[in-house]
Amino acid sequence: MKKLLFQFDTDRFPSVFDTVVAYDGGADHVIGHGGVTPDDISALVEGAIFTRPPKDKKNTAIFIGGSSLTDGQILLEAVRQKFFGDFRVSVMMDSNGSNTTAAAAVARLAGTGPLTGKRAVVLAGTGPVGQRAAVMLAKEGAEVTLTSRTRLRAEQACEDMRARFGVSLTPAEAATNDARGAAIADAQIVLAAGAAGAPLLEPHHWQDNPNIQLMVDANATPPVGIGGTNIMDRGKDYGGRLVWGAIGFGMLKLAVHRACIGMLFESNDIVLDAEEIYLIAKDMA
Ligand code: NAP
Repeated sequence: MKKLLFQFDTDRFPSVFDTVVAYDGGADHVIGHGGVTPDDISALVEGAIFTRPPKDKKNTAIFIGGSSLTDGQILLEAVRQKFFGDFRVSVMMDSNGSNTTAAAAVARLAGTGPLTGKRAVVLAGTGPVGQRAAVMLAKEGAEVTLTSRTRLRAEQACEDMRARFGVSLTPAEAATNDARGAAIADAQIVLAAGAAGAPLLEPHHWQDNPNIQLMVDANATPPVGIGGTNIMDRGKDYGGRLVWGAIGFGMLKLAVHRACIGMLFESNDIVLDAEEIYLIAKDMA
């Protein structure tokens, strides 16, 4: 029986990246739908849950993607609302690579030792990756500050993550490199989650800071987010500070994404969101 993955994307076009990884993760056929809204969900999910007998339902799965984390969360909830009894299929949510990227980045940090009580700053943390990374750091026991160029956006992201995951994050406004340098003054962990190609820190902002122990930069598009580091860094030691660049931890991100797709086809009742994907990443790291 063919393993079918239905890709529900909240953007106009289903993500090419997610389609490729879906095949590499073990799907026999990937059916992508773009511009999916909660209003579309009934017919799409009914087609997935009513078509195969119980023992074969595990061969049908759903992947939710798109650039908006908020829209992805709403779509995941709409999909889950349609399930009842054994009329369900496994589902994974990874809007903009949020869960898999954040999980791989934080798993690399957690692999160095306990993060409990450490002060962490997620720079430009209002995007999908930054929000989920902040949650995962907080769940590891770190004290997490999330920055944005505007206070309102930082506050909104912290409130959204509190409402969804019950974590307490501290919002901070940091609109310039110097402001972000000041925001990390007391930090032991820095996770840069800015938009592709957006520089967030200059080298002296962290090189002159004796508190920093661990840094991750998610941005793979030049210039790097954390100036003076390299996208290929894999736990590279910069004078006592361990650094992972976007490609350095990105291999784990891809492996986690593929492994998650494979797991969807193991049974028909799996839900892979932030918590589950983080556990998988930690295990694989
Ligand atoms: P995003 O939503 O595109 O951007 C994150 C935040 O960056 C935005 O919310 C914005 O925050 C801030 N920002 C935008 N332009 C900026 C600028 N010029 N200067 C300073 N801040 C700016 O990012 P994402 O989707 O969460 O992804 C985060 C990063 O991870 C991206 O660089 C992405 O390419 C990368 N990524 C890496 C991997 C990997 O495997 N390494 C996988 C997926 C994604 P405010 O407006 O609130 O300031």
